[in-house]
Amino acid sequence: MGVIKSGEANSRYNGTMIIFGEKGNEMTLGRVDRRYCPTCEKERDFYISLIYRYGHVFWIPLFSYSTKYFYHCSVCGYGTELKGRDLNPYLTSNPKPWMHRFGWVVLIGIIVILIAIFS
Ligand SMILES: [Zn+2]
Repeated sequence: MGVIKSGEANSRYNGTMIIFGEKGNEMTLGRVDRRYCPTCEKERDFYISLIYRYGHVFWIPLFSYSTKYFYHCSVCGYGTELKGRDLNPYLTSNPKPWMHRFGWVVLIGIIVILIAIFS
């Protein structure tokens, strides 16, 4: 039994190929402000972006982790990470795609159905 893991890797287990890996996703949630950017030395639009990673098996996203929100300049990317209470004015619901959070529920459902069919 050997497991090789990289960004997009395969592992062999009892002759069955299980393909798993992880990917990153970045979402721009929208413009929130216009202010002076010290890097651009100009007035710039500032956006909130969400960056996270998610694990997947057979290209089915299962769960997400290391979620970070950034408040940043739209041109140079200068900005800060937003945490906890700082986010409240900007977030009304979880912006991640449903499958990136609850894909594992779908996968368990598929496994249960397959077991029911083949047993
Ligand atoms: Zn800038």
